[in-house]
Amino acid sequence: MKQSDTKSLPRILAIGAHPDDCDIKAGGCAILWAQAGCAVRFVSMTNGDAGHHEMSGPELAARRKAEAEAAGRVAGIEYQVLDNQDGQLVPGLEQRWELIRLIRAFRPDLILTHRPNDYHPDHRYASQVVQDCSYLIGVPNICPDSPRLETAPVMAYFWDEFKKPIPFKTDVAVDIDSVMDRKIRMLDCHASQFYEWLPWIDRHGIRMPEEPSLRLEVLADFIRQFNRPDEESRDFLKRYYGDARGVAVISAECFEACEYGAPLDGAAIRRLFPFIGNSLRETNNAARVLG
Ligand SMILES: [Zn+2]
Repeated sequence: MKQSDTKSLPRILAIGAHPDDCDIKAGGCAILWAQAGCAVRFVSMTNGDAGHHEMSGPELAARRKAEAEAAGRVAGIEYQVLDNQDGQLVPGLEQRWELIRLIRAFRPDLILTHRPNDYHPDHRYASQVVQDCSYLIGVPNICPDSPRLETAPVMAYFWDEFKKPIPFKTDVAVDIDSVMDRKIRMLDCHASQFYEWLPWIDRHGIRMPEEPSLRLEVLADFIRQFNRPDEESRDFLKRYYGDARGVAVISAECFEACEYGAPLDGAAIRRLFPFIGNSLRETNNAARVLG
């Protein structure tokens, strides 16, 4: 496979297990990519029809699809929800073929997904299916009805806090402070999750007040804790945004390179994350002026 065209704007495909996963992990970047004019699509591998304590089945799936589409409108991106059942995703051939065709049709320069070790089987298997596609999207004899990709996309993983067998390693950290309020409004669209289901299942320590007008601020605090840069991310931010900005960033989204895609080197970072590139150029220009 050839290297991607460096001149055109990158096309971004984020693949999560549930309708809200991509938003939590990459919602801020999606807004920045959309603002830069990039084509961005979020895909949920399942329809989310198990993620509630009072609703289920097609009624819940329809509600979650509508929530995802509303979040997509807030970010200015496309949101696609596949019809695999929630809690029952398997890394089978049908799922692989569906995703191979989807990836080939979208022609992404960057694919984001979960890491393969995660508490939720749907997250693990979504990651597995994406990895299973990484080589086969270029093999013409697989799904010959859809043209193979001639350019290998870069692949990267969403941040998570799991430590075993290997902790997350930051290869890219993006300052999302300028769009954090809008990211929170994206997540506010997923009312069935943040205001109903997640407080009820109580797996993530989210507590919601009864009073609806107070919920948005509680949601904002809940989300911000996942976007606080750690030491490694802070180092990246200082290197790429300059010391002053790097130290000041409050919220960042971080990604780890997946070895099965094209290399995520410095040139790829600048091409795929053009908003970081702008900061770099501004930093370089400032350095030249100061120097
Ligand atoms: Zn999920």
